[in-house]
Amino acid sequence: MLENTSQTTLPIYPQLLTPLPGPKTKALIERDTAYISPSYTRGYPLAIASGYGAMVTDPDGNRFLDFCAGIAVCATGHSHPEVVRVIKEQADKFLHMSGTDFYYDVMADLAERLAKSAPRTEAEGGEPKKVFFANSGTESLEGAMKLARYHTKRKKLISFYRSFHGRTYGTMSLTASKSIQKSRFSPLVPDVLHAHYPYFYRDIFKSATPDDCAEACLDYIENYLFKMVTPPEEVAAFVLESIQGEGGYVVPPAKFLVGLQALAKKYGILIVADEVQSGMGRTGKMWAAEHFGSYEPDIICSAKGLASGLPLGAIIARSNVMDWPPGTHATTFGGNPLSCAAALKTMDLLEGGLMKNATVQGDYLKSRLMPLKDQFDMIGDVRGIGLMLGVEIIKDKASKEKASALRNQIVDECFEQGLVILGCGENTIRFSPPLVICQEQVDCAIDIFTRVLKKHAS
Ligand code: PLP
Repeated sequence: MLENTSQTTLPIYPQLLTPLPGPKTKALIERDTAYISPSYTRGYPLAIASGYGAMVTDPDGNRFLDFCAGIAVCATGHSHPEVVRVIKEQADKFLHMSGTDFYYDVMADLAERLAKSAPRTEAEGGEPKKVFFANSGTESLEGAMKLARYHTKRKKLISFYRSFHGRTYGTMSLTASKSIQKSRFSPLVPDVLHAHYPYFYRDIFKSATPDDCAEACLDYIENYLFKMVTPPEEVAAFVLESIQGEGGYVVPPAKFLVGLQALAKKYGILIVADEVQSGMGRTGKMWAAEHFGSYEPDIICSAKGLASGLPLGAIIARSNVMDWPPGTHATTFGGNPLSCAAALKTMDLLEGGLMKNATVQGDYLKSRLMPLKDQFDMIGDVRGIGLMLGVEIIKDKASKEKASALRNQIVDECFEQGLVILGCGENTIRFSPPLVICQEQVDCAIDIFTRVLKKHAS
């Protein structure tokens, strides 16, 4: 059993006591439906009454194994006792003062910790970092857009197809994941262009290797976008996920990121790395960008796992890039003291063993998923790093046709057997459990997943 988790003496397997949803969950969903905005995308009827580690319990006492972690947020597991303890201690001191106008130690402590955690290579002369705190992923990206424009005095931004950066106007303009997300919301923020992110499994350039795919994507930017659409001198930043999340858990070849950095340097363009989903230890390193050789983004955006479930976002930038003067950007709640305390403890736990566990269990999970690709014609691709793994569901290997309805059915049926997973992209299933999971739980998840796949195998 894993050390350093909040679940060492508690049950680690799912247990279903009622048909799903049970009566209390059903009543909750009826109340919710009457009053909650219909814009949310709840796929199956899971309600949570409590959670610990990788387990969540619904109002009817049914226990589920959580391989989604509140959309890759609960990095240290649900209600890790150490995280809860520091939140309570901070709550007894003060809840809010606003870092916009005043100072407090947990905010400065966390800024120092994050600044020192960001990739810092000789290529940039070891330039130190500075941090701006926001409340969410979208706010971090929104701030990074402003910072990139402010610093470069340029207007244009280039993001990538299938990317997801949030739903406020700036980030919605960057996002190119599902068109429904932009439906009837125009006009968007102008001067945002989109380029191709290397997705070798479905490469539109039909490249022979992932590196060829990376080159084709870079060539598109330099020889099409920069020659036919915009002069590079007008571009403030490339904005991209280090590993695409909502778009389908797509891992780029290092050649792409390193090549993009070279292109950016050539034309004085910044690189904004969206690490909202891929960061905070999920891939076995603090930032997914660290997996890709000499790649060093100018600005990193974080949120989700940063405070183990409390709302917090961060923009981490080289100090010579974060050069905006007082008054240019601020927020009342950003850097809330409870969230900062939770984030400091989260970083302790990540560095104290959970990042290592993400690598160990991630490798193990991948080694259990890979053979399923050979066993089932409906699995087209298994990809990812650490505990950010995606499985692409297709009609069959001959056609590679995306099987979105089947993907949804598999996700629903896993839930009916006590495993909580989520889809991403059009036809991918994501495995993004809390980083506290143990091998027994990986085996349990694979058993359930395999049982469900067998039901659909022809
Ligand atoms: N960026 C990425 C990569 C994300 O995955 C998300 C959310 O899923 C966001 C930004 C937006 O974060 P939030 O929902 O906290 O605004």
